[in-house]
Formats: sequence, C-alpha cells, structure tokens
Amino acid sequence: MATVIQAYRFALDATPRQRRALASHCGAARYAYNWGLELVKTRLDQRRAGEDAQVPWSLFELQRQWNRAKQQVAPWWADNSKEAYKSGLDGLARALRNWADSSAGRRKGRPVGFPHRKRKGGCRDACRFTTGAIKVLPDRTHVQLPRIGVLNTHESTRKLARRLEQGTGHILAATISRTADRWFVSFTVEVQRNLPARNRKTTVVGVDVGIRHLAVLSTGAVIPNPHALEGSLRKLGWLNRELHRRRLRSKRRNQTRRRLARVHARTANLRRDALHNLTTTLATEHGTIVVEQLNLAGMLRNRRLARALSDAGLAELRRQLTYKATWYGSQLLVADPFYPSSKTCSACGWVKAKLTLAERTFTCEACGSQLDRDMNAARNLAKLAQHVARSGRETQNARGADRKPQLAGRVAMKREAGSPSGHETGTAAPAKDGCYHPPQTSGEDW
Ligand SMILES: [Zn+2]
Repeated sequence: MATVIQAYRFALDATPRQRRALASHCGAARYAYNWGLELVKTRLDQRRAGEDAQVPWSLFELQRQWNRAKQQVAPWWADNSKEAYKSGLDGLARALRNWADSSAGRRKGRPVGFPHRKRKGGCRDACRFTTGAIKVLPDRTHVQLPRIGVLNTHESTRKLARRLEQGTGHILAATISRTADRWFVSFTVEVQRNLPARNRKTTVVGVDVGIRHLAVLSTGAVIPNPHALEGSLRKLGWLNRELHRRRLRSKRRNQTRRRLARVHARTANLRRDALHNLTTTLATEHGTIVVEQLNLAGMLRNRRLARALSDAGLAELRRQLTYKATWYGSQLLVADPFYPSSKTCSACGWVKAKLTLAERTFTCEACGSQLDRDMNAARNLAKLAQHVARSGRETQNARGADRKPQLAGRVAMKREAGSPSGHETGTAAPAKDGCYHPPQTSGEDW
C-alpha cells in the first residue's frame, strides 16, 4: 500500500444563488491577489527609493497584511469564506516565488515574468478550500463546501464516497473552478493504493500522438480520433471566424465568445476522454511505454489550432501515463527531445535531413522502405526502449540523467501552502520536496 495524491473532479449542478456564491468566491480570490500584488509593488518601489520597507513575500506575511487591511479595503469581506482570500494570496505567493526563482536561475523552463494583475474574465476563475466543512454526502449526489453549502453534482460521487467510507481516502482540499459556463469541484484526496512493482508484461509500445489520428502505436494499431471531435473542430473554426467579425464589446460578440468557450470545453473533454481510454489500456497491457518529449517552449507559442491541439494531446497523454504507469506497474520512457523519431528510418536507421509536416509518408532513401509517417515515428520510439534495455539503463533523457518514471507519483505529500506544485515543467521529475504532485484536474473518473 502506498499513499498517492489523486484528484476527483465533479461537475456541479448549482442553483442560480449558488452560482453567484461560487463566482463571488472566485472574485474574492482575484481581489485578494490583486490587492496583495499592489502592496508588493508599492513596497518594492519604496525600497528602491531607499526607504526601509518590508516586502510581504510569503503567504503567511501576505495574510497578516490582508487581515490588518481587509476591514478598510474590503468591508464586504465577510460575504465569502476566508479561504477565498487565502487562496488568492497563496496564488500570489507562488507567482512571486516562481518569478524570484526564475530570475535567480533556480527554476527550469521558460523565464517567468513578474506577476500581472488578474482581470475579470481574463483569468481562470478558481478558489481553493483547505479547511472547514468539506464533505461528500453519503447520498452520493451532493457535496458540501464552506460558506457555499450543499451543492448537487451532475454525476455520482460514488468512487470518491466509497474511498472515504472505507477509510482509504482522505480529502486534503477542494478547488472550485469554472470552465465555459460550468462549475466544477475538484477534491485533492490522499488515497491508499496497491501499487504493483511490475505488471509482468514484457511488451514495448511506442506511441505517437497525432492530429489526424488520436495516436499511432508501434504495434500497428491506429487509434482514431473520437467521432464527435471532427464536428467540434469544424464548429471551433467557424465560431472563431464569427468572433472576429463581431464588433468589440458588443452583446453579440460576448454571445459568440461564450459559445466558443463551450465548444472548446467540449472538444477538450472529448479528447481527454478518448486519451483516458487509451492510456489505461497502454498502462495495463504493456510492460514499457515510450513517448516523445514535450516541446514545452514551442507549445506556448503555437498559433495553429491543429498543432496546438496535438501538443495539448501529447501533454495530456504524458500526464495520464505518468500516474497510470505507477498505478498499474508499467514503465514509462520519455525520448530525448532531440531524438529524430520522425526523420529516422525505422527499418535501417537512416536519417532524413528534412521532413516537412505535409509529408505524410516516410520514404527511406537508403533501404527504400515506405511507411506512414506516424507509424514510422511510433516504431522508432519503441526501438528506443530496446536500446535503453540493452544498455541496462532505466530511462535516459536528453540531459543524460537517469530517470525512473515509475517513481513519479508514488510518494506524495500534502501540498504545503506556498510551495511550488512541481508539475509546471511537465516532466515526471520530483518537485523540490522530493515528491511529485499531480495536477489538480486529474481524476480516474473520466
Ligand atoms: Zn531505411
């Protein structure tokens, strides 16, 4: 038995009054965040001007300042749970820390800028509760949150409720968030799980995530995109064009924007659901799974919808496989980011100098073999595992460091307020406290 952190996410069927309360809590978190940011900026300016000013940097210090000032700056503070303000200030403390770590070179990945103000409608609406009455009611259709009260859920909470009843699950926190017009609650739960060391399967499978297909496996299987996705993508296209025709700040533009958000959410749900089916099969039926490395820097500046979706698909695949490999005892290998999986011939190893995205078939100029581009890539990924196995290494990544992905998610601890959450780099590397923290929006219920 091992303790893992798992998220259980449920769509909420909130009454209009509850929807207002949910929005109010997220607004309160945003307000506290912006207030704290202004305070930090002012103090930093004072210090730059040579004054002896204390800059509140930690969550603890920010909360102290907020409690001192709230009566003045937000006389309505009692309308929301105090957790809402804490949640906003926690976000700020993390943002400040990320910025400081990044500027000092202590943080991997793209440089992190100084935190910006959060604008209503321009940021994610979310609020996290860590104390108070956080419950899953025994009828399995209701949850209870501090201040907001008892909320109806759209789907049954039985998977989580069973864990809580059997004593194999313990709720650490609840986060409310909004996607398009729908509210969700995500419970961060400490779960006791049986983690098999190895699933006794010897097969190796390479996975290439694509646009035309959901994925292509080195075994020869082509996993098609979910049928409904096609329609959703077409709708996304025309709603985007419609949005650009609408006049700025008009009612109609707002309508289109909301419709677009709903279609986006549905598209993401369709893909995620299909990926969940795929990753569970992969992790239970194969001993070793090989995937490509994420191109994180490239991901963030992708303008093409199809390309962005494919990257998002790969990121989601990686995220799901990381924890499912641990749950089901398979091994996840990540290819070197510079490994030319698409350009290499899977039959003879010849490397093509240039391969455009439009070329759907790989033709080898050395041995003459012809193969579907994605299939060729998937086979190359699978080959990589054999190479790793021969050299006796668990996993090797670009930096030459050994990595043992099966450890990811195995050890888990309560997320300390104000500590980095460890998953922002998108790798299975453990966070600073030696623990991997899965993203909050994961869940086995998808
Ligand atoms: Zn060849």
